[in-house]
Amino acid sequence: MPYTGGEGGGGTISNPCATIPGGNTQTNAYKTLDNEQSPISIIDDGGYPPPTTVECSTVKSRIMNNIKDSCLKKMVDQSIAKNLDSYTSEIVNSIFGESLDFNLFFEEAALVPTLDGKNDPQGDPGTQGVFNSTITINSLLNTSSVEYIAATIIHEATHAYMTYQGKLGEFNQHTQMGTNLAYTLQHDLQSMFPGMTDKDAKALSWGGLSETQAWKDLVNNNPQEANDILDINKKYKDATGTKGQRCK
Ligand SMILES: [Zn+2]
Repeated sequence: MPYTGGEGGGGTISNPCATIPGGNTQTNAYKTLDNEQSPISIIDDGGYPPPTTVECSTVKSRIMNNIKDSCLKKMVDQSIAKNLDSYTSEIVNSIFGESLDFNLFFEEAALVPTLDGKNDPQGDPGTQGVFNSTITINSLLNTSSVEYIAATIIHEATHAYMTYQGKLGEFNQHTQMGTNLAYTLQHDLQSMFPGMTDKDAKALSWGGLSETQAWKDLVNNNPQEANDILDINKKYKDATGTKGQRCK
């Protein structure tokens, strides 16, 4: 799961609510109604002169699941559910506990087959008071197992959160996932899929980390285990794979 938003932050986005004269700067520029991504809402009562009132939601942060494919969409909802005993769930809860704008957008696109998902962060919570990250899930994954899809979503959500925390760069983030967070990612999967073995959960949590030193060490020190991990991932990912459950 290569990560393309490696440099993180720095994008320019505006927060109309923060600049409204006399407006409440604590409100969010994003409405939570519908699946609207328009940052502002113009109240139009059909009158003249044209409407100029900008309405801002009082909700500061939000997660938008804009995925169309029913299987991928459902897996995003399940992976980021707030009531899971998981790190991803903690991320979601902290998103809504932040005083800054933190918005996660889930999209789908037909990416190259070797790329399971990608992450495009925008904004800087330190200087702009707002951070958005668009997570794109490869639509080709809709034939993979739900377990593999969930592993991809967890991986990408972790990238987004690390960038938000100022831990920048794909390589650094993967290194941390392969070391400090290895057990955490495994635990997240088992929280969603209680029947999953330690071995399978650990294997799926290695997804996207093949360039890390931790993975290279494993290949050198225990090539059999490394091979097993690749084999397990393939069985969960391939449409005809023998592990996990498929939506279709
Ligand atoms: Zn990654």
